[in-house]
Amino acid sequence: MKKELLFLNPIFKEMVWGGERLREFDYPLPSEHVGECWGISAHPHGDCTIREGFCEGKRLSEVWREYPMLFGGYESEEYPLLVKIIDAKSDLSIQVHPDDAYARVHESGSLGKTECWYIMDCREDTSLVIGHNARSREEMEEMIDGRRWEEFLREVPVHKGDFIQIDPGTVHTIKGGMVIFETQQSSDITYRLYDYDRRVQGQLRKLHLKQSKDVITVPSRDASKSVRSTLGMSPNRLNEMVSNQYYTVWKLDVEEEFSFEQRYPFMNMSVLEGEGRISGREIRKGDNFIIPAAYGRVELQGRMLLIASIAN
Ligand code: ZN
Repeated sequence: MKKELLFLNPIFKEMVWGGERLREFDYPLPSEHVGECWGISAHPHGDCTIREGFCEGKRLSEVWREYPMLFGGYESEEYPLLVKIIDAKSDLSIQVHPDDAYARVHESGSLGKTECWYIMDCREDTSLVIGHNARSREEMEEMIDGRRWEEFLREVPVHKGDFIQIDPGTVHTIKGGMVIFETQQSSDITYRLYDYDRRVQGQLRKLHLKQSKDVITVPSRDASKSVRSTLGMSPNRLNEMVSNQYYTVWKLDVEEEFSFEQRYPFMNMSVLEGEGRISGREIRKGDNFIIPAAYGRVELQGRMLLIASIAN
C-alpha cells in the first residue's frame, strides 16, 4: 500500500480571463474559458479525487485524514499545499493575498496565501506587476484612493522559464498570454485591488480595497529578489527554486534517467512537458501525483520537465 503513487484527477475552474490552452495538456476542458487546473488540491473549493489504486475515487482530503502515514504523519489539519496551472488569456485583476495571521482572524480560520510561479509560457517582452512604488503606508493609500495606478504599480519584465516568489502582502498580477505553474499554500483568498474597470456581463467585479490596504507590505521588497531565471539549470538534478517556511520547490529536467531517494513526508510532482516513466509506470505531460512517505527510490526515465514540491 505505501509504495503506491497517488495520481489525481484535476479540477478545472472557469474564469473570465481564462482560455483553452490547457488542452495542450490533453485535459478535457468544460469550456473555452478555463483559467485554472487544480492538479493537486484538497481545498474545499476543489478537492481532487484519486484516479486509481486502493484510494481510487476518494478525495484527497479524505485520504489525508484516513491514511496519515502515507504522508509521514505530517502535522497539519489539512493538506497544506495546492498546485495548479493557470492559463491567462487576458490580464488578471491586480491583487494581493493575506498572510496566515490576517486570514485566521478575517477569513474564518483560513490559511494565508504564499505562492510561487514557474512561467511555462509568455509573450516576448512581457511584464508582471510585482510590488508597488509607494514609500509609506500613507502614500500607498493616497495612490490607491487617487487611482494613480501607473505610478503605484511596479512592472517587472519576465521571461519564459522565470521563477517568481510572491509573499503575502505583495501586489501582483498575471498578464494575458501567460501559462503559469503555481505552487501555493492551500488557500483561496484573494483581495482584488483594481480590475482595469472591466465589466463582466455589464458588471464591475467586486473590489476589496479595505482588506488590500490592510495587508499590502510597504515598502515593497526589491523585485530582483523575487524573480529568478531557471535557464541553465542542470538536467537530472533536483534544482531548488525556492525554500521557505511553507514549501520547497524544485525544477527537474529528466534526460534519459534520473533517480533519487524520496526522504520527505510526501512530495508533489507534476509533469509539465514530455513523457516517460516513474518506477516503470508511464507518465506524461499533465499528470499530477503525490509520492508518499517511505516510497524509497524514485526512478525516472524519459524526457520530461517536472516540478516537485514538499511542505515544510
Ligand atoms: Zn496570487
